[in-house]
Amino acid sequence: MAQFVDKVNIFVQAGHGGNGCMSFRREKYIAAGGPDGGDGGHGGSVVLRVDTGMTTLMDFRYKRKYTAPAGGNGQGSNMKGKNGEDLIIRVPLGTVVRDADTGEVIKDMSDQEDFVLAKGGRGGWGNQHFATPTRQAPRFAKAGLPGESHDVVLELKLLADVGLVGFPNVGKSTLLSVVSGATPKIANYHFTTLFPNLGVVYLGEGESFVMADIPGIIEGASEGVGLGHDFLRHIDRCRLVVHIVDVSGSEGRDPVEDFITINNELSQYSPELARRPMIVVANKIDILQEPENLTRLREYTDSLGFPLYEMSAAIHKGTKELMRVIYNRLQELPPITVYETEYVKPLAEAGSADELRIEQQGDVWLVSSGWMERLLADINFDDYESRMYFDRQLRKSGLFERLEEMGIQKGDTVSIYDIEFDYEP
Ligand code: GDP
Ligand code: MG
Repeated sequence: MAQFVDKVNIFVQAGHGGNGCMSFRREKYIAAGGPDGGDGGHGGSVVLRVDTGMTTLMDFRYKRKYTAPAGGNGQGSNMKGKNGEDLIIRVPLGTVVRDADTGEVIKDMSDQEDFVLAKGGRGGWGNQHFATPTRQAPRFAKAGLPGESHDVVLELKLLADVGLVGFPNVGKSTLLSVVSGATPKIANYHFTTLFPNLGVVYLGEGESFVMADIPGIIEGASEGVGLGHDFLRHIDRCRLVVHIVDVSGSEGRDPVEDFITINNELSQYSPELARRPMIVVANKIDILQEPENLTRLREYTDSLGFPLYEMSAAIHKGTKELMRVIYNRLQELPPITVYETEYVKPLAEAGSADELRIEQQGDVWLVSSGWMERLLADINFDDYESRMYFDRQLRKSGLFERLEEMGIQKGDTVSIYDIEFDYEP
C-alpha cells in the first residue's frame, strides 16, 4: 500500500571548500616567477526549493542523506578551482523544517523563496593572494573550509484555508470534488482517503480559497490508533474547520455522537485546534431517514453557538451556498499561520591552542587545523559581532601566548586560512 509520507528525518551536508594552490610562474629564461597559485572553489550549498507540484514527502522515504559537491582545488597559472554546484532539494509547499535534536523551527517553506539549509565551505586562498611588496614569494596556500551539516526533520503541514473534518464516509471527498478541481477518491467504505487532498475553490473573479480533505479522524486517533493522528497536523494551519456530519442515519450512526467524538479528537490532539472557528455541515439530506436526527444536531450546535448548514454533496444541493458562506467567513479570519524561525545555529567554539598547527615562514605565522576550521566556517567577517566573537575565541584558546613563546614579534603577520592580521601584543 502506498503510504502517505508527511514526516521524515534527513541529513544534509554542504560541500567542503577546495584548497588553495601554491605555485610559481615558470617562464623560459626567468629563474623564479611570481606566485600564481589559484584559489580553491567554494563548496556547494544544500538549498531547499518549493515545488508546488509536490504534495507529499514520499521522495525522501528511501533517500535520507544529501551531500553537495566539494569545491575544486585551485591550480597554477592563477586558475581558480570550480565552485561546487548547489544541491537543490525540492519540497512541497508548507514543509516545515526543524532541527532534529531540539525540534526548533529552522524554516517554514510556505513562500516560494529558496532557503539555504547548509552553506558550502569557503575555498582556500592560493599563494598568489598572499603576495605583498615585502613578501614576494609566499610559500604557502590555504586549505578550504568545511561545509555546514545538519540533521533535520521535514514535516508537511499543508497550506489550506479550510480543513474538512468528520467521520469516514460522511462525504468530505465528495464535497471537495464537487466544489473544486480536485479529484479525490470517493467510495462507499471507510478509510478511502489515505492522502490529504487539496482543492482550490473559485467563486468568482479574485475570490478563491484552498480547501483540504483531511482523512481518517476516528475514535482513538489522538492516541495514535488508526490513521487519524498523523493527518491532524494538516489542519494545524487551517483558518477555518468545516465539520461534516452524516445526518441521513443510513449507517445507523447518531449524528450528535459523531459530532462530539470528532470534536474530542480535535481537542485531544490540540486544544488550540478545538477552539478554531468551525462551521458544521449536515450532509446527505437527500436520503434523510430520520428528520429528528437533523433537529437534534441543530439543537446541539445551536447550544454551542456553531452555525449549521444543510447539504447534499452528491446531488450538489447547498454546496454553492456553503462555499459562499465559507468565503465570507474567511474574510473575517486571520491569515494562514506561518511558523517563525526559532532555531539559532550554535557557533563553533575554540579549543586549546595546543591542538593547532603553527608554522613560521619568515615573518608570517601560519595557523591551521582542527577546531580553527570549524570556527572559521561559522564566522562572517563582514559582520562586526561575528568578528568580535572570533577575536574572543582566539584569546580564550591561548593562541597568542603560544605564539609569544614561539617568538612572534610585533608587526609579524598571523595568517589563518583566508584571514591575515598584524600581531599587536
Ligand atoms: P469521505 O470518507 O468523508 O471522504 O466520504 P466520501 O466523499 O468518500 O463519500 C462516502 C460515500 O457517501 C460515497 O459513496 C458517496 O457517494 C456518498 N455520499 C457523499 N455525499 C453524499 C450525499 O450527499 N448523499 C448521498 N446519498 N450520498 C453521499
Ligand atoms: Mg474521503
